[in-house]
Amino acid sequence: MAKQYKDLINNNRLWASEKKEKEPDYFSRLSLAQRPPFLYIGCSDSRMPLDTYTNTEPGELFVHRNIANQVSLTDINFLSVLEYAVNVLKVQHIIVCGHYHCGGIAAAYHGKVKGLVGNWTNPIRDLVLNYNSELNAIEDLDKRLDLLSELNVIQQVENLYKTNIVQHALQKCHAGFQIHAWVLDISTGLIKELELPMEAWKNKGLIPETVEEDPGKNENHEAHGV
Ligand SMILES: [Zn+2]
Repeated sequence: MAKQYKDLINNNRLWASEKKEKEPDYFSRLSLAQRPPFLYIGCSDSRMPLDTYTNTEPGELFVHRNIANQVSLTDINFLSVLEYAVNVLKVQHIIVCGHYHCGGIAAAYHGKVKGLVGNWTNPIRDLVLNYNSELNAIEDLDKRLDLLSELNVIQQVENLYKTNIVQHALQKCHAGFQIHAWVLDISTGLIKELELPMEAWKNKGLIPETVEEDPGKNENHEAHGV
């Protein structure tokens, strides 16, 4: 049954008292400071609370979410989150996480979305045009949209590399964080790590040669910077 408004407050009281019973100093510790190791950039979709899927606790994920997990180079909200995460919180991992069955992706694909959301998802429309032949080669519409969700995440990671915040970090010999591209399959609850076209990005000068090839798959995360 769908929750009522009052249920949220009641659930909160219950959750807080259970938490305190298990760990009496939990909230006093939590209130001291935040030192999250991860910045999560995700979709606003209500099915995308990454802390649930990754079993992470309050204090572990610093979060920015918007429709279709866009990394917009003119979004002062996003850029300030990124700057704070990198320069003050000094996160070790930046995760851009899209998902299959994304309403923003589907709306942009069909090109029928109006108003501000239409403006916001325009960059995805560009992706549809740029990858027209790859997308059209897939007969099944759901699978075509899955590919578009993946292409969108990779594009947003490329945008992330274009920000002066990440570029500035890359100029140091050890930036201190790694960037990951994920897509979450809501129908299974599983995260898929996407390969990034690092070689192509190096060739066009977006990232330096020293950046490791496949940070998501490297077990020794501390050994290399971005
Ligand atoms: Zn979405």
